Amino acid sequence: MKYDVVVIGGGPAGLAAAKSAYENGAQKVLILERDKELGGILQQCIHNGFGLHKFKEELTGPEYAQRYIEMVKESPIEIKLDTMVLNISKDRVISMINPIDGYQEIEAASVILAMGCRERTRGAIAIPGERPSGIFTAGAAQRYINMEGYMVGKKAVILGSGDIGLIMARRLTLEGAQVEAVIELMPFSGGLNRNIVQCLDDFGIPLLLSHTVVDIKGRDRLKKVIVAQVDENRKPIPGTEIEYDCDTLLLSVGLIPENDLSKEAGVTLDTRTNGPIVTDSMETSIPGVFACGNVVHVHDLVDFVSEEGERAGKFAACYIAAENCKLENVSNIKTGDGIVYTVPQMINLDNIKNKLEIFMRVNNVYKNKKIVVREGENIIASFKRVHLAPGEMEKILLPEVLLKRISKDITIELQEVI
Ligand SMILES: Cc1cc2nc3c(=O)[nH]c(=O)nc-3n(C[C@H](O)[C@H](O)[C@H](O)COP(=O)(O)OP(=O)(O)OC[C@H]3O[C@@H](n4cnc5c(N)ncnc54)[C@H](O)[C@@H]3O)c2cc1C
Repeated sequence: MKYDVVVIGGGPAGLAAAKSAYENGAQKVLILERDKELGGILQQCIHNGFGLHKFKEELTGPEYAQRYIEMVKESPIEIKLDTMVLNISKDRVISMINPIDGYQEIEAASVILAMGCRERTRGAIAIPGERPSGIFTAGAAQRYINMEGYMVGKKAVILGSGDIGLIMARRLTLEGAQVEAVIELMPFSGGLNRNIVQCLDDFGIPLLLSHTVVDIKGRDRLKKVIVAQVDENRKPIPGTEIEYDCDTLLLSVGLIPENDLSKEAGVTLDTRTNGPIVTDSMETSIPGVFACGNVVHVHDLVDFVSEEGERAGKFAACYIAAENCKLENVSNIKTGDGIVYTVPQMINLDNIKNKLEIFMRVNNVYKNKKIVVREGENIIASFKRVHLAPGEMEKILLPEVLLKRISKDITIELQEVI
């Protein structure tokens, strides 16, 4: 069976991509989702704060997902749930398995990768100590509490102050647990400022910056975690240890794009994002294979995930109609001082038809800087920012008229405001 566009992953990125591919002319569109329902990670995010940009409303995760699920279901887009994609070949043959069809292979004129991301675990950060029960990744605990109906513990410490850690500190408190502290290795939080205020400050939960967990005690169930302050090289400082009696440790220590399928397909990955390198059309290094959402880079706001999905869907439809996305005249976006990465990493100069949003993360907390876009020494655009932080994704918008002036590689960096 041959499809025009096959979308792998039915989270917000995949839903928006499928809808947009269909609206832009793709006839046979299929979504493959390994879970038993659509919506992705949003289904377990029952807190509000979603959709402020897209719908100008404050929705919960499931409400936001439901809007896209309904839009997809109103169209002839096909959906296969409970379906795990095992492999994608370079010529876009997709192998998958599910309880109804068993093992199957299908062909796609265009593929959109939208598999989201996964959490780093205790093994990934090598915390020493005993190995009792009671240690969860924050996302796993969120799923137990919000979807499966199990409480994970009574007294908790949370390692990592990214958004998931902050949101789970509030969630555990609301469910009756005591959250002793949120511990953060870096001298700044990795989460959105609004989440620090609403999830920690409002509940009196302390945030210990420049600290980490140095030991875990407990044979069957967790009994204690030992936390110590770290120096500027992130090494624990002897004599600064604090002991917390607790039965639960949540780890919110980073997300990594779900990149196994991308790697096996031979898509070129960016070592900074761990996701595929993409052009302004969200096309990867393999022609006809597009990517969007957290599989490309980890987003803070779902609204931008949906927008990225819409762009991937539109260009996947455009690819099958005209194959006009050839990469012959490309400008690479390089990163300079203060910028960790950008998405996209490349602009197809033969294909500029509209304004372009460029997303990026900075490597530290900065005040009063400007984000500068330059070609050689020639400054093309500059954007003032009062506050920049690694936990808050930055976005700049280059209008078509400026994009048309670009003729070779550009650099994006932070500069002082003079
Ligand atoms: C705890 C938490 C709190 C958040 N809070 C907010 C917030 O307050 N406001 C906000 O705007 N955003 C928030 N976000 C961010 C937002 O939810 C995510 O950025 C967004 O859900 C990412 O969408 P996605 O489609 O890329 O990935 P996902 O939602 O992860 O979807 C990916 C889908 O792909 C499927 N999949 C993966 N591999 C395969 C395979 N091999 N075969 C088939 N299917 C596969 C998965 O099952 C999943 O359904 C939060 C995220 C988290 C985790």
